[in-house]
Amino acid sequence: MEFEPVIGLEVHAQLRSDSKIFCSCSTQFGAGPNTHTCPVCLGMPGVLPILNRKVVEFTIKMALATHCRINRENSFARKNYFYPDLPKGYQISQYAYPLAEAGGIEVEGDENRKCIGITRIHMEEDAGKLIHDEHFPASYVDLNRTGVPLIEIVSEPDIRSAEEAAAYLRRIHEILVYLEICDGNMEEGSFRCDANVSLRPRGQEEFGTRAELKNMNSFRNVQRALEYEIKRQQYVLEAGGEVIQETRLWDDAQGVTISMRGKEEAHDYRYFPDPDLVTIVISDAWIEEIRGTMPELPLEKRERFLRDYQIPPYDAGVLTASRALADYYEEVVRLCGQPKVASNWVMGDILRFLKEDKRDIRDCPIPAASLAEMIRLIEDGAISGKMAKEVSEEMYRTGKPPQTVITEKGLVQITDAGALAAVIAEIMAANPTQLAQYRGGKDKLFGFFVGQVMKATQGKANPQLINDLLKKMLP
Ligand code: ADP
Ligand code: MG
Ligand code: ZN
Repeated sequence: MEFEPVIGLEVHAQLRSDSKIFCSCSTQFGAGPNTHTCPVCLGMPGVLPILNRKVVEFTIKMALATHCRINRENSFARKNYFYPDLPKGYQISQYAYPLAEAGGIEVEGDENRKCIGITRIHMEEDAGKLIHDEHFPASYVDLNRTGVPLIEIVSEPDIRSAEEAAAYLRRIHEILVYLEICDGNMEEGSFRCDANVSLRPRGQEEFGTRAELKNMNSFRNVQRALEYEIKRQQYVLEAGGEVIQETRLWDDAQGVTISMRGKEEAHDYRYFPDPDLVTIVISDAWIEEIRGTMPELPLEKRERFLRDYQIPPYDAGVLTASRALADYYEEVVRLCGQPKVASNWVMGDILRFLKEDKRDIRDCPIPAASLAEMIRLIEDGAISGKMAKEVSEEMYRTGKPPQTVITEKGLVQITDAGALAAVIAEIMAANPTQLAQYRGGKDKLFGFFVGQVMKATQGKANPQLINDLLKKMLP
């Protein structure tokens, strides 16, 4: 029997507000333990939370970008559970009335572009962090993270392969970062994902029993964990067994998923409306105001690049991976007028230099104007493509404009036909044997003469001009 995977993802994204969701403590990562805390986020009795307006604004942005319905009235609930990293004994989250519902995004699927539905987007607070001491029988708690704002983005079970899940995640990540509402840092936990997966016999409508996978900290690991889990469930089903509903942890070192807890231990959170917080009422005017500040999103940008610059889809994908990279590319094109050549330089040398240095495009030592000018110099024949490689390396190293680099390195290309003809005449006189052989029909000696001219000019002669002149003068 052939099985079809069914996957739904839950993404937690940390919002980039300066202060926490219900108090004015800083959200800065990496501060000394418990230095970013106050009675509100420490869960002291008698304090009241006050909702951060920025958090609502950011969530509305994500809702608009993912085509969700925005619930004009929505509210917070208490999710009750005990854990030492949660001093209040409950997490403030949204439950019955989330801010956004019923949206979706387009993803490059296995064959075509397809829409993955988004069930809901809701706001909630993060919990603290436990640090377990390996040498001393104690655990420490750092509450800097309690009350840091999160949104949870829950997808419909519309995803049908591990690869598609990774593609969906990349798109969600890209949108969050484009909107500048999440820094997207997976290592620091600003972007986390749980994956739900089940199998069903192909053609069957009804879903199978699912497992929930946790603890994947990269796109690649989400994909690997799902690939493993799909195979595991397939073996279970093929052997006539049953998949049980459970939470499983991805073990990166072993490359396997391990059972963590079954359904019997599933939590009962006793959700109820939080009496400390009033209903959030969102006006149409506010939504329109926020809509007015939305940047062009990755997919729109990609389509505009294809249309306006006539570059291949691959190039458009690479160049729109971040807003800063896209801006850099567009500035180069605006100044040099050659979209494909600009794309080759940006995707080639520039990205390679930056990758080697682990640098962001925003810190690129070559300003867009310098790259554009270099491209114009190649076009004008002032330097060859080969020289340009040397120029770009030097520009990257020193930050100097191309003209300065060219002058300092003496890289100016010889384009003066008269001067070059004189050089060729000398070479012909100095190599009478080869000249006679060439004239006698040994055509491949043409290359010998090209080489001699290159050598005499130290590679600075325009190759096209050498060719043209040799064809005229040798016979
Ligand atoms: P929970 O709160 O227990 O995690 P939800 O109903 O909120 O449960 O579902 C969480 C995620 O699981 C959603 O992304 C949903 O699309 C996905 N999901 C639900 N049922 C299945 C299933 N049978 N197989 C795969 N994914 C599923
Ligand atoms: Mg879940
Ligand atoms: Zn606080």
